[in-house]
Amino acid sequence: MPTKHGAFVFWIFCLPQYTRISRLSPPNLFALEKIHNYINGQLVAAQSGDWLDNYEPATGQVYSLIPDSDASDVQAAVAAAEAAFPAWSSCGVHERYRILHRIADLIEERLEPFAQAESRDSGKAITTARTVDIPRAQANIRFFATAILHFGAESHQMEGQAVNYTLRQPIGVVGCISPWNLPLYLFTWKIAPALATGNCVVAKPSELTPMTAYLLSQICIEAGLPAGVLNILHGLGPKAGQAIVEHPKTKAISFTGGTSTGRILARTAAPMFKKLSLELGGKNPNIIFADCNFEEAVSTTVRSSFANNGQICLCGSRVYIERSIYEKFRDELVRRAKALKTGDPADPTNDLGALVSEQHRAKVMGYLDIAKQEGGILLCRGEIVRPSDELANGYYLSPAIIEGLPNHCRTNQEEIFGPVVTLQPFDTEAEALALANDTEYGLAATLWTQDISRATRMAERLQSGIVWVNCWMLRDLRTPFGGVKSSGVGREGGVEALRFFTEAKNVCVKY
Ligand code: NAD
Repeated sequence: MPTKHGAFVFWIFCLPQYTRISRLSPPNLFALEKIHNYINGQLVAAQSGDWLDNYEPATGQVYSLIPDSDASDVQAAVAAAEAAFPAWSSCGVHERYRILHRIADLIEERLEPFAQAESRDSGKAITTARTVDIPRAQANIRFFATAILHFGAESHQMEGQAVNYTLRQPIGVVGCISPWNLPLYLFTWKIAPALATGNCVVAKPSELTPMTAYLLSQICIEAGLPAGVLNILHGLGPKAGQAIVEHPKTKAISFTGGTSTGRILARTAAPMFKKLSLELGGKNPNIIFADCNFEEAVSTTVRSSFANNGQICLCGSRVYIERSIYEKFRDELVRRAKALKTGDPADPTNDLGALVSEQHRAKVMGYLDIAKQEGGILLCRGEIVRPSDELANGYYLSPAIIEGLPNHCRTNQEEIFGPVVTLQPFDTEAEALALANDTEYGLAATLWTQDISRATRMAERLQSGIVWVNCWMLRDLRTPFGGVKSSGVGREGGVEALRFFTEAKNVCVKY
């Protein structure tokens, strides 16, 4: 949790930043120490003048400050968005397409400084930021800029009587709130469809990873996005985020984050009859049958377990392996996990960087203690790593693989969201299905088998919003994305997002 400082102590807290900035600093253009809100086309401080520390996970040092925004900043952002709405919603899809494409072009041109900023801010390995986060952020914007050109609506004829046609109209001012694990990637995944459909947006990135959203606000100004169309506020969830959800003028809220936060949002938004999209936590099963392509299954399971330090909502955290190959698969997975390098996120030879915060590493390590108390055997220990003296206070943790736990224990039921997986053997398809579904979550599942009938059968019966067969994280942006049970409500992606961010109006014309 960022700590808070009044504006007058700003310079004291700037000092560590200047000592650190040499190691990973992006070019001067982006070497910005004080992150600002983007409201009504301007980069501004919080009205209170208060700032929060922003930590660099690689070093554990404060390296920049973010505005500690509150309801008064949200009010200013909503007022700007309301004022911008009539022009933005009526400027035409080609104009919105043109500006959004320009924004995507600028991100693409600056991939490297964006990737460095993302890696520094979140602790993720630079290679992940370069190859996943930033390319996908620009792709999100491009995808929805183009999708709006092809977005159609239905027409229903009543023979001889009337014709009905559906208008899909923008909602007005909408709120978008995103988490820290894929910062710009998930931020753009929300704001791009909201803007493309003609809404004006008040958005908040996570207080733990604000930097690339700030860089995006600079790019929006450069790209000529009209003032007030997109407003980006920084600050704490229960304060700035809650104020966005509570504001009577934000008519829809698109949220990605933890399940417990989703519950709070739902309690606030439901009595106000807001449209709500909730993308929440997961505890994803990864089911490996003996007839799988062993090499592909094991190499992808290494990725699906430890990519981004295991901090992806889609990571498989419960690996179920058919008993006849259990030992072979386990031993190979452990061997490869032990070979992964955890260290300085800026070093492209490292596979894992630092976890996002001290608090989060403590939470993940707490689960390793729980696993031991529950009788688990740690095959791969999950240890604190100190890559160098300079990085000794960073939040590093090596991969952990645990076996010997029953399905109902806390380690197998609660979301850990770190580089930790458990292994369990199974004997039959029915048992694998029952184990996989035995959780409150239902986001994604992965199946490894060469038997197409079994894959189809299982895919139908798995309680999850996404099923990958013989692959993982293969994403087509046109497909529906989201979870069932406690993993969320609603779907993002493709036409689902365009529908969420529009209101359907039926017009019935009598002949
Ligand atoms: P979080 O719920 O703590 O925070 C998410 C965002 O909500 C942040 O911007 C935060 O400031 C804000 N927030 C917190 N309290 C709020 C409130 N009362 N009102 C409004 N906004 C509030 O989640 P996190 O720790 O940032 O992210 C990790 C979680 O996100 C994990 O549970 C992970 O599974 C989930 N996640 C889900 C998906 C998905 O697509 N389903 C994708 C990524 C992450």
